[in-house]
Amino acid sequence: MIERTLVLVKPDGVARGLIGEIISRFEQRGLKIAGLKIVRAPEELIAKHYDHDDIVKRKGEFVWKKLMKGLTNQIVVAMVVEGIEAISFVRKICGDTEPRAAPPGTIRGDFAHHGYAYADAKNIPVNNLVHASSDAKDAEREIKIWFKKDEILSYKRADEAWHYG
Ligand code: ADP
Ligand code: MG
Repeated sequence: MIERTLVLVKPDGVARGLIGEIISRFEQRGLKIAGLKIVRAPEELIAKHYDHDDIVKRKGEFVWKKLMKGLTNQIVVAMVVEGIEAISFVRKICGDTEPRAAPPGTIRGDFAHHGYAYADAKNIPVNNLVHASSDAKDAEREIKIWFKKDEILSYKRADEAWHYG
């Protein structure tokens, strides 16, 4: 039941000074930051991170191209977030992919208002501040892409008993 998932603060979140705010959203819910780094992401890293066939199937080749352009050589913060059913819970904290649709109280719903129509007209990715793994298979795959085994740490938080019982 305790899961680990991969979260990225995307270039728009870094540029807007929202790294701390975004990490806090997870920390304050009792989730644990088990790995953390800031990197300028080369093309091959982004091409591995986003599964080409999956994005093309669900969204189209144009979205793949926009993602590659929007994230390659940009600065992102990568983290491994751990907690009870963390994979789906972290997605909930992030909110819907399209910030216009994301409810207030979520990261995307509180700090962005981009929409698909606007992004398509401007030929840019939807600026939605964060990435979070979509399921257990992706979480495992993505964590391995961004972190070496010894970069993910186990430790106890002082408030852990209150979150885990
Ligand atoms: P999520 O990040 O919520 O898992 P997806 O995996 O469906 O969403 O898409 C990956 C990323 O591609 C999104 O976070 C968003 O930045 C971008 N994106 C998705 N759909 C579009 C679109 N129609 N136009 C532009 N960018 C998009
Ligand atoms: Mg996704």
